[in-house]
Amino acid sequence: MAVFGIVGNEKTSVASSVYYGLFALQHRGQESAGIVVNDDGVFTTHRDSGLVDEVFDHKSLNALGKGNMAIGHVRYGTLGTKERVNAEPIVVNHIKGRMAIATSGKLSNAAELKRELELAGHIFHTTIDAEVVSCVITKERLTSASIEEAVSRAMSKFSGGLCLLLMSPQKMIAARDRYGLHPICYGQREDGQYVIADESCALDSVGATLIRELDPGEIIVFQGGSVKSLRDHCGECPESLCIFEYIYTARPDSSIAGCAVHKARRRAGALLAKAHPVEADIVVGVPDSGLDAAIGYAGESGIPYGIGLIKNKYIGRTFIAPGQDVREDKVKIKLNPVRDTVAGKRVVLVDDSIVRGTTCAKLVKLLKSAGAKEVHLRSSAPAFINPCYYGTDIDSKDSLIACNHTVEEITKITGADSLGYLRLEDVTEICKSGNAKGYCTACFDGKYPTEIPKKYENKYDNKISENKK
Ligand code: AMP
Repeated sequence: MAVFGIVGNEKTSVASSVYYGLFALQHRGQESAGIVVNDDGVFTTHRDSGLVDEVFDHKSLNALGKGNMAIGHVRYGTLGTKERVNAEPIVVNHIKGRMAIATSGKLSNAAELKRELELAGHIFHTTIDAEVVSCVITKERLTSASIEEAVSRAMSKFSGGLCLLLMSPQKMIAARDRYGLHPICYGQREDGQYVIADESCALDSVGATLIRELDPGEIIVFQGGSVKSLRDHCGECPESLCIFEYIYTARPDSSIAGCAVHKARRRAGALLAKAHPVEADIVVGVPDSGLDAAIGYAGESGIPYGIGLIKNKYIGRTFIAPGQDVREDKVKIKLNPVRDTVAGKRVVLVDDSIVRGTTCAKLVKLLKSAGAKEVHLRSSAPAFINPCYYGTDIDSKDSLIACNHTVEEITKITGADSLGYLRLEDVTEICKSGNAKGYCTACFDGKYPTEIPKKYENKYDNKISENKK
């Protein structure tokens, strides 16, 4: 999921800027898109299921009109949540006024908060965290002197990953959860407009210069050209930036915690080559998120880097496809081997991660059918053995291949000639590339920075001790 906001003093075509920003953030969510424009407290909304360019056209963008601020959202979710009603931003009219809210990340205590609100008589129309977030803020607003005070009070009730953008008639508020699980930054354009987004690549897309990232727990209020930072929650919890941002989630041209994502991925590839060397003729990366690590692997090992798989640019991330059958077909449609690169060669195939194991098994088969003599699979992330509760929506151990199989078994299942994961200690090395004080590596080591969501607590107890890798 991703949020994007723009705020200035003049009324301009803010919706077009948000459109460009969301386009740059499309990799973080492909299920729905939406924009709310604020024109002196009059909110105009357009949101729907689909990709940014499916949801918006000239007509709908023009209909959003001009304003001095706007927020937008792209959504990523699990099966069954694609309904239009789950599209953000959401607009809430409460007793003290109006607000629009967009969120990214996932709360680990959403179910508890929702239950508490339901018992107090609230009715929910969606299944998204943003509605829970808006209810908690609205409740706090009733007894707060300002919207930022309400946000501040609400933030201490949220646990887990949350980047929040909130627009009231007069203010734009950006907030980052106390653990700093996901990144959010802001910058400024030459015309003075401030821009807020999960990743710096979105700032680039609208010609804004990065000012800085929000600190964990920080709340920033933009109003009438001024920027106020509220730091009441800063330092409350140990910083736990999601390591998967570097591995997979973020775009390589973004900078997170002061480190270029591309650089972190190359470094991971180099460390992978040191840990799992192999005699081979060519290193091939899985487009797109495996490419940087493959370059790193090639550089460290001295084995030439080659383009061995071509991605059809017009197809979305395979992971988003609902149902296993569709997902498997999509791999073939999405990636095609380059025979000239791989035929008769011993290939090192580098991917950013192995989650369910479906993609790499298909790719090994594809490369072999294109004449590869051997395929040595390398993952620039350690074995993914624990569910993620903070936004990646991998909330079940059942589908994680490394939970149920050893390295030897996975090698066999995928048809690879060998398999090597990045070592956990090397993840610590990548972490040093950034300036975050701490990282969440729970998907690899099970050390969650927050309590595990109640509803999941017992379901996996028996299996957790059986992790094979
Ligand atoms: P698989 O092993 O078949 O589940 O596919 C793994 C691939 O999915 C990786 O190479 C990533 O490119 C991608 N991936 C990893 N984590 C996620 C995620 N949380 N959401 C979507 N795609 C992901």
